[in-house]
Amino acid sequence: MKLALIGFGQAGGKIVDKFLEYEQRTGQDVVRAPIAVNSATVDLQGLERIPEDNRVLIGQSRVKGHGVGADNELGAEIAEADLDEIQAAIDRVPVHEVDAFLVVAGLGGGTGSGGAPVLAKHLKHVYEEPVFGLGVLPAADEGGIYTLNAARSFRTFVREVDNLLVFDNDAWRSAGESMAEGYDAINEEIVTRFGVLFGAGEAAAGDQVAESVVDSSEIINTLDGGGVSTVGYAREPVERSDDGGGFLSRLGGGSGGSDRDAVDTTNRITSLVRKAALGRLTLPCDIDGAERTLLVAAGPPNHLNRKGIERGRKWLEEETGSMEVRGGDYPLPGSDSVAGVVLFSGVHQVPRVKELQKVAIEAQDNIEEIRAESEDNLQNLVHEGAEELAPLY
Ligand code: GDP
Repeated sequence: MKLALIGFGQAGGKIVDKFLEYEQRTGQDVVRAPIAVNSATVDLQGLERIPEDNRVLIGQSRVKGHGVGADNELGAEIAEADLDEIQAAIDRVPVHEVDAFLVVAGLGGGTGSGGAPVLAKHLKHVYEEPVFGLGVLPAADEGGIYTLNAARSFRTFVREVDNLLVFDNDAWRSAGESMAEGYDAINEEIVTRFGVLFGAGEAAAGDQVAESVVDSSEIINTLDGGGVSTVGYAREPVERSDDGGGFLSRLGGGSGGSDRDAVDTTNRITSLVRKAALGRLTLPCDIDGAERTLLVAAGPPNHLNRKGIERGRKWLEEETGSMEVRGGDYPLPGSDSVAGVVLFSGVHQVPRVKELQKVAIEAQDNIEEIRAESEDNLQNLVHEGAEELAPLY
């Protein structure tokens, strides 16, 4: 499907940039309008692939290109104030060519955390196309303010979008890596998973295209209906054949080869579906109770078959308890692996989200205390940087 892809804040911009790198590498053509929005000049300058005209600096009059720190209320305010400038960048984009908007942001910081929900609300108001969010949760050890920001932003973002796809940095950290190296590997994970998911439905027409190919309406229908989504992914290398259609491998199999190949193909797909669903999800959760599910098998056409998808779907219906399980192929002639991607939409049993909600409620309780203290100390605070209280809400 075709996406207008908007990165808000530093993490959002970097992930969109990485998405463009992924597209260059794979030849995929999903992103119609890569846009980065930020309040920090230096972050916008650090981007490599998003065209300069599509980089929007907001909040200049208030923060002068220096960013908002971890103050997501300020992030939301400047986004609201500068919506016209963001809209001007979107106006240069052929919106009639896109199937959906995807707004990407790290939810623990300031600019993206505050601004992404504001932009999503605006887009929903202006356009008929669905507006999805991709929210990145901070690692737990980043500190209280990041968790608190994420908790508040999450609640707002999920309300404003047609679906919030979530990636939890906390579940994906690896020990012994610097932050920068860590983020690079994490961002690669993000774009691979979401690249295959959104790339489905873009298969070129031709005789290799089976009737069970996923189309963009299936992706949209799985996401539409709101809530929170998570994505599983697994891949397995396969023998590459130059014709992409498996002619040589079928010949090599002798007279009974085709049948055996078909069984192998079916088994490979069903096992990839299980691995994708039971392995590490972008947002770890219990998939039982997921409202809608979409399974995509991506790879060389000769390594895809309907039976594999059907078995995978059946298994997913049992695991999730839902009857709304869609599935199809994403033929990638010339690919040297088969990948299974499973999108679980409308998931409910998510420990990390419960934890964030708890933090937000506790913070809300504390707000009264904080306010009471503030009343007492109002005179001092007014003169001694009262704005520093803002992140405490
Ligand atoms: P903003 O610029 O004020 O929106 O804030 P950032 O985007 O820099 O940071 C928000 C949160 O995003 C941080 O707390 C991190 O958890 C996360 N983050 C920052 N950079 C990256 C990145 O490159 N990749 C990922 N996955 N997360 C990031």
